[in-house]
Amino acid sequence: MALIKCPECGKEVSDKAEACIHCGAPLKEKPPEPVYISFPQVSSFTGKGTVYYNGKSESCAPGGTVCIEISGPTTIEVKMNSYFGRPSLQVKPGDKVQVTVSALGKISLSKVSTLGTNISKNW
Ligand SMILES: [Zn+2]
Repeated sequence: MALIKCPECGKEVSDKAEACIHCGAPLKEKPPEPVYISFPQVSSFTGKGTVYYNGKSESCAPGGTVCIEISGPTTIEVKMNSYFGRPSLQVKPGDKVQVTVSALGKISLSKVSTLGTNISKNW
């Protein structure tokens, strides 16, 4: 075990610690984990679906799945061409989100344990 200096308070702490024992500052960046957002295959949906998060955005075709990488709780917003609304949802690393549209064309988001469609990498 080695001692490192806390970047926040400058005191020595174990390099194995996840947070500084003196000031509580996190010492390890958690590696980002994927969140999958799956868009429905709808006959009238010919545009693209877009996920907005952390000032970035990723898009995919109908029936596709967007994969974003986050290291902590993140609010996503989802938009689909020619459908109503831009719902938001707070997700955490490892979550899977299914996008659905109502008969009236309103978009909604729900967390699921498994996604119904094939995973295709964002493009
Ligand atoms: Zn500290």
